[in-house]
Amino acid sequence: MRILIISDVHSNIVALEAVFAAAGKYDALWCLGDTIGYGPAPNECIAAVKHAEVAISGNHDLACLGKVDLDDFNPDARQANIWNGKQLLPEHRTWLENLVPAQYVNEIFTVAHGSPREPVWEYLLTIEQALENFELFSTQVCCIGHSHAQLVFRKDGHHMCEGFRTTDRDTISLDTDARFFVNPGSVGQPRDYDPRAAYALFDAEAQTISFHRVAYRIDKTQNQMRDVNLPASLVRRLEFGI
Ligand code: ZN
Repeated sequence: MRILIISDVHSNIVALEAVFAAAGKYDALWCLGDTIGYGPAPNECIAAVKHAEVAISGNHDLACLGKVDLDDFNPDARQANIWNGKQLLPEHRTWLENLVPAQYVNEIFTVAHGSPREPVWEYLLTIEQALENFELFSTQVCCIGHSHAQLVFRKDGHHMCEGFRTTDRDTISLDTDARFFVNPGSVGQPRDYDPRAAYALFDAEAQTISFHRVAYRIDKTQNQMRDVNLPASLVRRLEFGI
């Protein structure tokens, strides 16, 4: 069984389609939130991920729905969230409204957009944060998104914790004496200086998670953004992976 794990699609349908094409056949899709916001194609992206077995909401999803304060975002992100929210078809709005930002999945996995401690807002990027958050969920692995950085925190049986960024084709083994935070990176707006779309695959037989990057037509997404007058800074950052 292969599970495709994605996060932070951010209304970038060109990047999302490249991920689906590169990932090949999968048995289940998990989507870790921020499916919309920033980008030009919210309805297309929701239509493409609605079949996900596991889906949670992120801070931008909630902002687009008017469920968190738009003043918590910088002016460009705020403008894009308002635009994204206005585009939503009623059935897509309903789908988003029914998501929560964190969820127990099974005896191995928990998912949270930001972190178990603060599922909507925390950027889990340091070992100190990882150690505190390891206390706040009970399963072996917690899949997170939100920081748009593809990374792993691994705590072994001796409570030693390491954190590392991953790149295309890195693979980790889910050793039974260790626990993990796994961030598949962002599909639609990577921020780790690699502009390629990011995703991860869980192989249940091998008990491994592999990390991947795939190039996509960034210029197509940028043109779609210009067509609907999304902020120029959001258009530009895509090609730099920031
Ligand atoms: Zn995001």
